[in-house]
Amino acid sequence: MKIGVIGCGYVGLSTGVLWAVLGHDVVFLDEDERQIATLRQGEVPFYERGLQEVLARYRARTTYACGWSEWDADVDVAIIAVGTPAQPDGSPNLSYLQAAVQAVGDHWQAGRGTVVLLKSTLPPGTNALVHRWLQERLQFRGLSDQVTVVSNPEFLREGDALTDVFYPQRIIVGVQSRAGESLLRDLYRPLLTGPDTAPAVLQRPPGYTRPELFVTTPINAELIKYAANAFLAMKISFMNEFANLAERMGADILDIATGIGMDSRIGPQFLQAGVGWGGSCFGKDAAAILHTAEEQGVQLSLVQATVEANDRQRQIVLEKLHRHVPALQGAVIGVLGLSFKPGTEDVRDAPSQTIVRALRAAGAQVQAYDPMAMRTFAEANPDLAVAYTAQAADCFAGADAVLLLTEWPVFAELPWADLRAHMRGDLLLDGRNAWQGLSLSQHGYVYEGMGRGKIG
Ligand code: NAD
Repeated sequence: MKIGVIGCGYVGLSTGVLWAVLGHDVVFLDEDERQIATLRQGEVPFYERGLQEVLARYRARTTYACGWSEWDADVDVAIIAVGTPAQPDGSPNLSYLQAAVQAVGDHWQAGRGTVVLLKSTLPPGTNALVHRWLQERLQFRGLSDQVTVVSNPEFLREGDALTDVFYPQRIIVGVQSRAGESLLRDLYRPLLTGPDTAPAVLQRPPGYTRPELFVTTPINAELIKYAANAFLAMKISFMNEFANLAERMGADILDIATGIGMDSRIGPQFLQAGVGWGGSCFGKDAAAILHTAEEQGVQLSLVQATVEANDRQRQIVLEKLHRHVPALQGAVIGVLGLSFKPGTEDVRDAPSQTIVRALRAAGAQVQAYDPMAMRTFAEANPDLAVAYTAQAADCFAGADAVLLLTEWPVFAELPWADLRAHMRGDLLLDGRNAWQGLSLSQHGYVYEGMGRGKIG
């Protein structure tokens, strides 16, 4: 088949390459000329583990279109993976989607039977809206083709995107028609039943079992995506609130997480307390579904509380720091980690953005290191004066405190004794509970985790 992918961001490229690996011809389209120029040179404009190698390996089956004048109208499936950023009122900006859908309609080849597949995260009801937009466009051109719009939300995690695409846990398909369902079944069949097709750079997750393709209505598929993200964010906010209580009472949230995670109804994942969640999806999607619920006159009080607890958690980190370093004006604060999680350079809604901004506003000097995200952080915060360091150890030089905001593996083992001697103060604030507090206190640090009482 010939598959068109519209939007060459994390989702478009990571999911689009699957179709090339499975033997289809894929045309990737983006309106960002720089993005396409970079891709044509064989490079991926952002870091996602393994993506550049796999795209290079399958380049014979992939082409890149810079805008709609280069679009191949002959595609069987048009996959839409454009961004849906939040607007000030919380609702997602659907103008990129609308532009893409209308362009598909304008380039529709009569009788071709193109299927439009929605990968972007879209509020409930958008599938029907897209259907209408397309029909209007076709009618305007005097075409009477059947329009098939399938909702196929994406659940990949940045940093593990390819693993999640080639080894998905489930595939959600929201369709109105049998035709849409059978096309999606055919497309995904290799992942459902065939031999392992994943490129060699990927490792099959331990205990992996074939996914189920769950067919439902479009509005259910759309809501599944929001409910999944809200639930995951809620788990973390829940643990963060318990961490705050545990800390006040001299308990350790790590043991509490272990203890509750042993219950299979709860499970051990997503129970890590810390500085709070971030990234391009959780906050945006929570705001979007809260906006939808309000429009519908329905309360999503747990989602609201999840967001509020997350906002507070970022302040709690600052309050902790303040207790140890009362005068932030002129203080030197080392920050380890800027990306919203390890394995990505993405800083969208990362806790580091709020925390570093607050530190600067309080007059602190910030020296920061991240193995990947210093460029993206600087680009996203051009007004913030931050001294970016060449390596993690440099963040300790003359610092009154060092904050860990992203648990990159390189921060796990540092020459602790040497670094202590280079600091002015002694506080290590472990915002991800990634360090061994007891052994650090033996090196002369004051260690503070999140929800761990006072260690040492
Ligand atoms: P992104 O910002 O990385 O990429 C979006 C791309 O779409 C950009 O390259 C942009 O230039 C392009 N674009 C915008 N309008 C266009 C148009 N009219 N025509 C052609 N190209 C256009 O976004 P992303 O992180 O890949 O997310 C895309 C969607 O997938 C969002 O709805 C997001 O919520 C959802 N999603 C993201 C993730 C994730 O981890 N990033 C996971 C699951 C779902």
